[in-house]
Amino acid sequence: MSHPQRILVTGGAGFLGSHLCEALLAQGHHIICVDSFYTGARQNLATMRDHPRLEIIAHDVCVPLSVAVDQIYNFACPASPIHYQRDPVQTIRTSVLGAINMLELSKRHGARIFQASTSEVYGDPMLHPQPESYWGNVNPVGPRSCYDEGKRCAETLFFDYQRQHGLKIKVARFFNTYGPRMHPDDGRVVSNFIVQALTGRDITIFGTGAQTRSFCYVDDLIDGVMRFMAAPEALSGPLNLGNPEEFTIEELAREVLDLTGSSARLVRHPLPQDDPKQRCPDITLASEALGWAPKVPLRDGLKRTIAYFDRLLANSPR
Ligand code: NAD
Ligand code: UDP
Repeated sequence: MSHPQRILVTGGAGFLGSHLCEALLAQGHHIICVDSFYTGARQNLATMRDHPRLEIIAHDVCVPLSVAVDQIYNFACPASPIHYQRDPVQTIRTSVLGAINMLELSKRHGARIFQASTSEVYGDPMLHPQPESYWGNVNPVGPRSCYDEGKRCAETLFFDYQRQHGLKIKVARFFNTYGPRMHPDDGRVVSNFIVQALTGRDITIFGTGAQTRSFCYVDDLIDGVMRFMAAPEALSGPLNLGNPEEFTIEELAREVLDLTGSSARLVRHPLPQDDPKQRCPDITLASEALGWAPKVPLRDGLKRTIAYFDRLLANSPR
């Protein structure tokens, strides 16, 4: 975007949202960060504190919002299984009512709108790696459904608003992303393993550890998000964004132990219900349409994330 825009980022005080706010501020835009602080924190915006082009509004996206904007990034939603399962009804309300409220705002102002969707729309996939054309294998009534089905419904709403009201939409499906500013008690695997290794507690492997995930470093993801938003209107998605390098959970645990030099033990815990056995993005579309591919290998991204948690734990020992 050549001239400064007024950009609304919902969930802007969260892990990914705060990195997005930072990147958009660096481009000269005016940012309105809307967050209920359900899982996010003002501390995530500390590097931008008192920035003249950053407004922070405490607000729940389930409630309609009236602000004049040129663009909207809808990132509000708890993303870690322990957080989105804590109050599942609020999770699905956030995805569905949040999407409707933001789409209505986009309609009023003609604002381009981006939806942070997820690889969870593929559920426990029967097709590997997952291309955007795959419709998924999702349990509609399990403990993960509030998140998976909420995000699927939000995607439906985005495409219905596009068809019915001509909105300019961008729907991206993020695969597991990690990096500085993940919450230390977030419950997701990368932050869990790093905090456990640094504090010498047991590394909790759920199930056999043979299930796979593909981990994208946050800077790579935000680069993909911004390229997609700036791409021609005809490219509306859904579009996978993630790192196609796939690892087993046990491999991740061993990498974290190696990089931290920790002697923490690996212990097995039961596999949570409906935990996907494998996940890896097919990023052909993002690579051809945006010239995008992740650049940060897992080992490098883990080193940066470990350095972040090392500093954090030094300031607030557990
Ligand atoms: P996060 O929990 O750190 O951030 C979510 C933010 O949304 C938090 O600041 C939280 O307080 C806020 N929020 C939650 N409910 C809200 C509500 N009703 N109203 C206003 N704010 C609300 O999670 P994240 O990892 O930064 O995820 C950001 C987005 O990206 C989410 O939509 C998530 O589903 C999506 N996503 C993330 C990943 C990942 O690996 N990090 C993968 C796929 C999709
Ligand atoms: N996992 C694990 N130990 C943990 C946290 C997670 O073995 O302490 C596993 C989890 O069962 C899943 C994978 O790591 O198979 C990724 O979990 P996460 O919650 O990070 O993301 P998601 O399941 O949503 O991809």
